[in-house]
Amino acid sequence: MSDIIQLLPDHVANQIAAGEVVQRPASVVKELLENAIDAKSSQIKLIIKEAGKTLIQVIDNGLGMSETDARLSFERHATSKIKNADDLFQLNTKGFRGEALASIAAIAHVELKTKQEPAEVGTTIVIEGSEVKSQDVVVAPKGTSIAVKNLFFNIPARRNFLKSNAVELRHIIDEFYRVALAHPNLGFVLFHNGSELYNLPQSNYRQRIVNLLGTKTNEKLVPVDETTEVVTISGFVGKPEYAKKTRGEQYFFVNDRFIKSAYLNHAIASAFQGLLKEGHHASYFLYLQVNPQSIDINIHPTKTEIKFDDEQTLYAILRSAVKHSLGQFNIAPILDFERDANLDTPYLQKNTGKMPQVEVDRSFNPFTSDSPKTTLSNTNSSSSNSSYTKTPSANWESLYVGLESKGTKEVVDFSQVEFESAPETTTIYNDVVKDEKQYSTYQLKNKYIISTIKSGMLLIDQHRAHQRILYEDFLKHITVKEAVSQQLLFPLELHFSVQDIEIIKQLQQDLEYTGFIFQDIKKETIEITGVPVSVPESEVSILLEQLISDVENEVPDSNFSVTDLIAKSLAKSLAIKNGKKLNPAEQEHLVNSLFACKAPSVSPTNKATFTTMSVDELDKKFM
Ligand code: ADP
Ligand code: MG
Repeated sequence: MSDIIQLLPDHVANQIAAGEVVQRPASVVKELLENAIDAKSSQIKLIIKEAGKTLIQVIDNGLGMSETDARLSFERHATSKIKNADDLFQLNTKGFRGEALASIAAIAHVELKTKQEPAEVGTTIVIEGSEVKSQDVVVAPKGTSIAVKNLFFNIPARRNFLKSNAVELRHIIDEFYRVALAHPNLGFVLFHNGSELYNLPQSNYRQRIVNLLGTKTNEKLVPVDETTEVVTISGFVGKPEYAKKTRGEQYFFVNDRFIKSAYLNHAIASAFQGLLKEGHHASYFLYLQVNPQSIDINIHPTKTEIKFDDEQTLYAILRSAVKHSLGQFNIAPILDFERDANLDTPYLQKNTGKMPQVEVDRSFNPFTSDSPKTTLSNTNSSSSNSSYTKTPSANWESLYVGLESKGTKEVVDFSQVEFESAPETTTIYNDVVKDEKQYSTYQLKNKYIISTIKSGMLLIDQHRAHQRILYEDFLKHITVKEAVSQQLLFPLELHFSVQDIEIIKQLQQDLEYTGFIFQDIKKETIEITGVPVSVPESEVSILLEQLISDVENEVPDSNFSVTDLIAKSLAKSLAIKNGKKLNPAEQEHLVNSLFACKAPSVSPTNKATFTTMSVDELDKKFM
């Protein structure tokens, strides 16, 4: 029998390890930035080309490496940061595995230049796929520069798997944010394809947030400060009124390291309970300092999850610290957060006087099965509607809502009529209100449009139907590239973060085909002079925010299309909402427009826009 086990050659082992450490260009960015910070740099420059696919370079002014260290840094498990297992529990550095450089060098072309302070000259090493190509003496400033080119050059499957430049750049910027927010005392510069995206001077936490997310952010921040034996918390939460529908601006840092924690996130969400609109998320930038011995970061190679010794206590402290801040800065009542504001209003008494009236049902007749039902409950109305398809909407409405005064008489009459045989009732009724009868639609609960069709009844979801109509409309404009704009009287100036502006720039062309006219796009502001005809000026800002958030949340696959995304997003934002009352003309217009669509039966997100009920089905219900 022969032995079959053998040790993997280093370069193979490295390539396998690289799969763990380096998932995409952003992973390289993270590792290189962290190394620069560990080297005690004060200025760090990140240079990216083509979203990191051709170049990722980090230049720092830190400690640099000796000639021997420079060579050793590419060996696996070579690190200057820990010496034994005990050190793992007193980590003051980002790195400690000694894996990153070895992994990166296994799957890219790497060029290192480094020099320590007292030395006259530095060292340069070129290494490709774990193979050292050259090592030389070089004249260089103090610090280290590592350039990573042609990432995944020897793993085509990985390279092909990379997403579009927009998506990869987004991941890079995310990493950049995390590192830059954790270290406001260091200066950072980010270049992409030769243009400077960020130039962040050394500053404090508040300024760093503002420099990254835009000047407007300043007024949104509420400071949080709490010192306990277990943890010191500092940082900011966003005022509730600025909460967004995206989870984008949520940052926890533990001992200067960005972490993700659903559990702690829940603590913040619960502190904000009752203060946010449905579907909105609070933003936060919270810095926790804990004893390094009370955490274990050795869980995941990319190190965004950590384990706390006493998570529950942390949860409670965090929640109350945030609540306290919101209270202190008059954002929420301090004493009782759960209090219902309505209880304080003086209207309560007046209302109680009226209540009995509403509950009285004068047309109630215990010997008939149908009439009490219709007056008392709205939920059953869809099935009852059907027997009155010919009634004009105004009267139907009064029937179901139980409107008082002039409607009452008709309601009573009508409920009596109802028990007679069908053909006569309809004729009688038609005569009464002949001239009003122009439209054959009825709006139910300000949500559904009911109409008749040959086979029976049609029930349309107004919000979804309108989405479909707008969606096809926008798609058409974008694809035929002809915009219908309305010129604004005064240009609209909107503020966004640098990151959001980047997204708008990418969408600019397509947005212009829908009718937007961008006069100027600056670093943090855009100036709009025209908008699509269907877009009210007051909605533009919300609309673009929603669009940006949709782009951010999209997980693009091969059939990802920006055009489609824009059309969907705009349609979603602009579509009439459920709860909006439509007059009969609007109802009919909606129905007609829906059936003029190419795919009327589904919303842009593939949900049913309408349902039908045939007379047969209805008949069965009455058997
Ligand atoms: P780790 O950071 O886990 O120690 P790395 O593979 O990232 O492992 O780096 C290996 C070693 O190379 C580090 O421990 C450090 O000594 C050295 N090194 C890496 N980058 C720099 C840098 N920018 N400046 C100085 N030394 C560096
Ligand atoms: Mg490292």
